[in-house]
Amino acid sequence: MHDVIVVGGGPAGSSCAYWLADAGWDVVVVEKKHFPRVKTCGDGLTPRAVRQLADMGLEDALAGSHKYSGLRAYGFGQSIEMQWPEHPNFPNYGYTITRHDLDGLVAERAVKAGAALLAGTEVVAPIIAEAGSPSSSPTGSLPQLKGVTIKEKAGTGNGSGGERELRARYVVIADGANSRVGRMLGTNRRRDLPLGMALRGYYTSDRHDDPFIESHLDIRDAEGNVVPGYGWIFPMGDGRVNVGVGLLSTDRRWKGVNTSHLMDAFVNWAPDSWGLSPETSLGPPTGGKLPMGLSVGPRAGANVLLAGDAAGTINPFNGEGIAYGYETGRLAAAALGHALSGEGPRALADYDRQIDAAYGPYYKVARAFVRMISNPQAMKLCVGVGMRSEFIMSQLLRIMANLMRPDAPGPAEIGFRAMELISRLLPDEVAALEAVTSEAFSARAS
Ligand SMILES: Cc1cc2nc3c(=O)[nH]c(=O)nc-3n(C[C@H](O)[C@H](O)[C@H](O)COP(=O)(O)OP(=O)(O)OC[C@H]3O[C@@H](n4cnc5c(N)ncnc54)[C@H](O)[C@@H]3O)c2cc1C
Repeated sequence: MHDVIVVGGGPAGSSCAYWLADAGWDVVVVEKKHFPRVKTCGDGLTPRAVRQLADMGLEDALAGSHKYSGLRAYGFGQSIEMQWPEHPNFPNYGYTITRHDLDGLVAERAVKAGAALLAGTEVVAPIIAEAGSPSSSPTGSLPQLKGVTIKEKAGTGNGSGGERELRARYVVIADGANSRVGRMLGTNRRRDLPLGMALRGYYTSDRHDDPFIESHLDIRDAEGNVVPGYGWIFPMGDGRVNVGVGLLSTDRRWKGVNTSHLMDAFVNWAPDSWGLSPETSLGPPTGGKLPMGLSVGPRAGANVLLAGDAAGTINPFNGEGIAYGYETGRLAAAALGHALSGEGPRALADYDRQIDAAYGPYYKVARAFVRMISNPQAMKLCVGVGMRSEFIMSQLLRIMANLMRPDAPGPAEIGFRAMELISRLLPDEVAALEAVTSEAFSARAS
């Protein structure tokens, strides 16, 4: 009988295990793959993610990775370079590092702090303590668990490859975007909230150590028409760049878009200086889903919590999920520390409320924003106006990377506050805003 079982050893699971082990609790992480393992990602760490890694004592371990200083945005023929802002709580730089290297580092750190890691072991089912069907409402609760049933890959552990039960007082579900285990407990994603879909591949490039990561706000098809989506080129510092395209479900046209064609068109269209071509490609791209904006629930039960992508915690403004995995894993660990110290299930309900308080209002604005810019005319207007002013774009960067300053409210903070007040007056789905802007822009266009 462990104190806590963590399902999944990605950013959310490993950070949760690290903070629990660091506090002296008996925690076991069950991870179906062996580290190092490949994970499809843009490999970009923002200052928020770097802060979490530094807090886990891992910044020195990033020394060999590519340190970069800001973002270059491209849109409608213009480009702007923006340094990460100065902030009292976050550094003014980020890193790029493959998940192959990063996730193993954090899992190893959790083990050094005292966590047990069962790698090459899959959670095949939760063991539900009570009779009765699991909740199916995002606002309901999760069933009580006794533990999980695990299956070791042949050649792992005792090599039996058989199934066995693992028991714990508390269970954290951090099994990522597909969250099979979460869904077995009855979690579901709100389909009215945005979902991202992205594809990435690696290329060799002379600009592999560029000091800026690059984001393309208008990407084109083979005929040069703007298509719904965005593109990125992230220098990796090791001879490679990570190149990707993403789409949001808020754009009704996304269902008709073939992401592989979109990727080919982006590679064709990207600035020549990156040297992207089929010849410099290091292999076919791979893709994945980005559950965002707190779209998945319920997040808590009497002895179960969800963290990271399993809870849909990706930031809709920029598709960043690693930092939010670390942060929600850490919040889950703190709540479980209280629960194990005697507070019991009340502490888990507090976790649910803390997530809402920490990200709810911000993500509500983000969801409204992505819905609005999913309208092609609105997107063109916003990007067109923004790209003419370095000042506007640098304020937007602070908002979109969640790096606003609590201590020194400036234009970004004041602008965001205004957006937050407006979004509070609107129904959560802001369908009304979307409808109004769509109609207004369609009318203008015609
Ligand atoms: C194409 C793409 C590009 C992205 N780019 C970026 C980026 O540049 N920066 C950024 O911050 N975010 C990015 N993201 C988002 C980011 O990858 C995720 O938000 C992040 O990985 C979430 O961490 P997690 O720990 O919740 O889940 P994951 O990283 O998915 O970890 C879940 C872990 O659980 C394990 N697992 C799953 N099921 C089981 C099971 N049944 N039993 C045992 N183990 C299990 C998996 O093997 C995995 O190791 C990108 C996503 C995609 C798809």
